[in-house]
Amino acid sequence: MDREWELKAACRSYNPEIWFSKGTWVQAKGICIGCPVREACLEATLDRESLTPDSLRSGIFAGLTGAQRAELAAARAPEPPVVEPKPVPKKRTGGRQLAPCGTPSAYERHLRKGEPIDQPCRDAHNAALREYRRTGSKRLPVRA
Ligand code: SF4
Ligand SMILES: [Zn+2]
Repeated sequence: MDREWELKAACRSYNPEIWFSKGTWVQAKGICIGCPVREACLEATLDRESLTPDSLRSGIFAGLTGAQRAELAAARAPEPPVVEPKPVPKKRTGGRQLAPCGTPSAYERHLRKGEPIDQPCRDAHNAALREYRRTGSKRLPVRA
């Protein structure tokens, strides 16, 4: 940023302490009010203090105390982004399609959920059981 404005700063011809000791703040503010580069001073100060914690904004600049500059900076700050509500998670199905009726898996699902068991599922279950007994396999037949 061009700092040529500082050459016209009213405070240049005074003791800088006036801007930094509370006892002379009123005097400092009075000088700032009549300063021809107050606007540029304000912008440069807010810029310089942009990362400064509010409690460490010291002295008078552009006629404002540190607290007043903090307030101004806060008022200028952009609104925080709107937080989108979290999407409601989809009901888990284990990432798989539910087995259709007429399969042993659907039969077991009906049992687990306490649902009434329809005939195609009952038939599928019985067929699977028959197959299980017939083959003597220790494992239930591969499910649909
Ligand atoms: S506004 Fe005040 S602090 Fe800023 S340059 Fe002018 S006299 Fe100095
Ligand atoms: Zn079924």
